[in-house]
Amino acid sequence: MARTFDRARARVERARMRHAAPVIRGTTRVTCPACGASREAELVQTIDPRENPADKTRLLAGELNVLACACGKRTQLAAQLLYQDRDAGFFAQVCPGGEDALDAGAAAFAASGVTGTLRVVPTQNALVEKIKILDAGLADWAIEMMKVLLLASIGELDRVLLFDALDGDVLRWLMFDEDGRLEHVSSPRSGYDRLASRAAPNALRIDRAWAIDATRQMIDGAN
Ligand SMILES: [Zn+2]
Repeated sequence: MARTFDRARARVERARMRHAAPVIRGTTRVTCPACGASREAELVQTIDPRENPADKTRLLAGELNVLACACGKRTQLAAQLLYQDRDAGFFAQVCPGGEDALDAGAAAFAASGVTGTLRVVPTQNALVEKIKILDAGLADWAIEMMKVLLLASIGELDRVLLFDALDGDVLRWLMFDEDGRLEHVSSPRSGYDRLASRAAPNALRIDRAWAIDATRQMIDGAN
């Protein structure tokens, strides 16, 4: 019996090692868009929060893959980044470069055989929001649908609305107006819970466009 467990454990460990990608960490020469100076910037392209919690902390703080120039300008580098939280079964790729890059990211997931919650996002900031949602124990697809309902209620579907935190029974949001001014918004968790009780979608791109379609279908289905 014990040997059966040992063998099963060894199999799990081998599978784990196969999926543990090496950390890609290097430097790249970047030109500062403000002063034109060329400098070396550190580039991290894989994050495993179990192995490299410090990289995750820097990512969430907006300090990862940033060119900090002597002139004071901070520039977010548009780099591919794979985030793999194997404990949560959550895998996300940042794929800068438009639709083709996102399609290539989705194809790479399909070829890798990785299973779990898989996402492709266009920017590192979009990844940060997904991680905040995941770490709060919430589902990104229900959060995106909640955003559409909140924005529809004020008639401003084009506004930027970001999940900020779950605070007891209240969801906290950051909303930006046309001039980029920040407004703090909150909504009861119960509205989110109603959405999250629906079946999880099988989609790699969970964004505003997806959520508008999904919300429309939900409302059409209810009528
Ligand atoms: Zn500079």
